[in-house]
Amino acid sequence: MTAAPLTCIELVEIVTEYLDGTMSPELRQRFDQHLALCDGCTEYVEQIRETVLALGSISEQNLSDPGRQALLDAFRDWTPPKRRLWQRVLRRSSRQ
Ligand SMILES: [Zn+2]
Repeated sequence: MTAAPLTCIELVEIVTEYLDGTMSPELRQRFDQHLALCDGCTEYVEQIRETVLALGSISEQNLSDPGRQALLDAFRDWTPPKRRLWQRVLRRSSRQ
């Protein structure tokens, strides 16, 4: 089976699974393949990873409102699609 490459948007949508280690091996491979070819997404993943390390796991920690706002401020220069996705990540984490 030859899997189609991930698009940037697909990658951004599943980045938390990647960092949480809940991604399937097949998807993980496609994810890594995209990162190898895309500097923008590599930078994006690193930013998310650093943020997660600074705050604790996205999936386990409820972010306080000030913390959430600081993140949104930090990423306000991102393009709107990525910013919307990040806000979705934050909303998801706050439900858990
Ligand atoms: Zn990309």
